[in-house]
Amino acid sequence: MKQRYLLLLVFAVLLFSSKAPAENIRTLRTMEQQKPSNPYYSRTDTAKLNLPDAVWKKVLSPEVYAVARQKGTEPAFTGKYWDYTGKGTYYCAACGNALFRSDAKFASTCGWPSFFEEVRKGSVTYIPDRSYGMVRTEALCGRCGAHLGHLFDDGPPPTGKRFCMNSVVLDFVPDRHGSKTGQ
Ligand code: FE
Repeated sequence: MKQRYLLLLVFAVLLFSSKAPAENIRTLRTMEQQKPSNPYYSRTDTAKLNLPDAVWKKVLSPEVYAVARQKGTEPAFTGKYWDYTGKGTYYCAACGNALFRSDAKFASTCGWPSFFEEVRKGSVTYIPDRSYGMVRTEALCGRCGAHLGHLFDDGPPPTGKRFCMNSVVLDFVPDRHGSKTGQ
């Protein structure tokens, strides 16, 4: 009888001690899917955001704001992802929306991170851009409307598209073991 109680006690201790790390991992994952300085950033919430630039100016870094909200362009061959080949998912640095998988990234000679397709329909939206005497297609985040870069028709198969993006508005999250979404 005594042995049975001892066994139960060991089992209970094991049960409670194994629960704590799981809780910690869950909390850590939730924390890394958000940004303390930006309450609108979420890698799980897909609800559209329609916020004035004044709000974005408060929550984004000056570098991200200059591209995302003021349509700036980082100099070629200077961004952190233009020749990066890690396996994972690229998210919008302004709002956390999933944009591209590393499987769709290709080695481009243009000096900006380039992809041949978005991660899902609607993750990127498009508008005509006639600035600087050119006719181009501007690519925007489908959730928050951040300027990401431009879309061209000179990409590789299977789509023939080239999403020419600015590294500064992308957040790369490596795949976890056995996960394809990085979450
Ligand atoms: Fe966004």
